[in-house]
Amino acid sequence: MFELTEDQIAIRDMARAFAREEIAPHALEWDEAHHFPIPTLKAAAALGMAGIYVRDDVGGSALSRLDATLIFEALAEGCPATSAYLSIHNMVAWMIDRFGAPEQRTRWLPKLCAMDIVASYCLTEPGSGSDAAALKTRAARDGDHYVLHGEKQFISGAGASDLYAVMARTGGEGPGGVSTILVEAGTPGLSFGANEKKMGWRVQPTRAVIFDGVRVPVENRIGAEGDGFKFAMAGLDGGRLNIAACSLGGAQAALDKALAYTAERKAFGKAINQFQALQFRLADMETELEVARTFLWRAASALDRSDPKATRLCAMAKRFVTDAGFEVANEALQLHGGYGYLADYGVEKIVRDLRVHQILEGTNEIMRVIIARGLVARGN
Ligand SMILES: Cc1cc2nc3c(=O)[nH]c(=O)nc-3n(C[C@H](O)[C@H](O)[C@H](O)COP(=O)(O)OP(=O)(O)OC[C@H]3O[C@@H](n4cnc5c(N)ncnc54)[C@H](O)[C@@H]3O)c2cc1C
Repeated sequence: MFELTEDQIAIRDMARAFAREEIAPHALEWDEAHHFPIPTLKAAAALGMAGIYVRDDVGGSALSRLDATLIFEALAEGCPATSAYLSIHNMVAWMIDRFGAPEQRTRWLPKLCAMDIVASYCLTEPGSGSDAAALKTRAARDGDHYVLHGEKQFISGAGASDLYAVMARTGGEGPGGVSTILVEAGTPGLSFGANEKKMGWRVQPTRAVIFDGVRVPVENRIGAEGDGFKFAMAGLDGGRLNIAACSLGGAQAALDKALAYTAERKAFGKAINQFQALQFRLADMETELEVARTFLWRAASALDRSDPKATRLCAMAKRFVTDAGFEVANEALQLHGGYGYLADYGVEKIVRDLRVHQILEGTNEIMRVIIARGLVARGN
């Protein structure tokens, strides 16, 4: 439980080497230019990182959720936002692998695992974020097609992705009326809003996705009508682990920068890491990340075992690790003094990128709602 196997160490080292060579040297430039690094993502796919927990008969790597957290943490040491996008793509690939029909698996997954096509996950709408089951995008049946009308908001990768996993209403109100439907880029009636101007996550586009009479064959529906909300939530259990891992990797990189900087920077005649007040802060940062990592692995292993408590543990991990990761990154910025505020030092980008992890894939307040639900039920 607390030691990695040789295989896991090899997986982590492979992802870490990729992050060091292919991601980290470009991350600041990509952020400044708002550049979405698709060729780099494809190179990651060639190493098995685009279908991490997809079965291997369709090109997946058939690894565990714990393995995935190691990969996303390592990639995030190079750039949290690049790593996080890959996490979303993996989430969609897994939903098709887990809930799709055999023909859907063979049609989409080899291309998704190779990243010949790139995927987006479309749940949030302008009028429904936390209350996702109130979504209004409608998919009306018309013979052997659905016709989609509505709008999704804040969709990562929108406009650049080739495939959109859309949660749309095929039935009545509430979660039981939602289905998951795959929509291909280029389908008439599908359009996108402007690329949002954001605090962080600038290496990936975020746009509204607009459906104006988009006709999609019924065979693009994943699973049964009305099961889409369950699939969306199941995808998010793993997505939350991955986002937490991205926070961990970003925060670790920020701490490493702070360690190097405080060893070098002098004040009052000595290196600032000689002040015990700073040493205590560094010690607390290291402790926070070790605790976060240990718990993240526990939650990932619960999901791997299909533990009935897995959803709650994933929510706890997402809440705790993304909060701890942001605090550590922000503290690392503080330890850089004024230089931490300058883009060239790379810490402010990490802080900006990690901030949104406390908001998306369910806000950290919604994580508390999920955790408290089980607790209150226990008290009854
Ligand atoms: C950069 C970025 C990328 C994103 N990418 C995607 C994506 O790819 N796909 C996708 O589907 N979505 C995506 N999202 C959307 C994201 O998941 C939502 O923004 C998030 O779920 C919150 O929804 P909301 O913004 O509507 O906030 P709201 O739901 O309006 O919440 C506002 C505030 O109220 C709080 N709140 C709401 N309900 C409760 C409650 N019951 N108890 C306590 N507090 C509550 C929230 O925690 C929050 O603080 C992205 C968002 C961002 C910013």
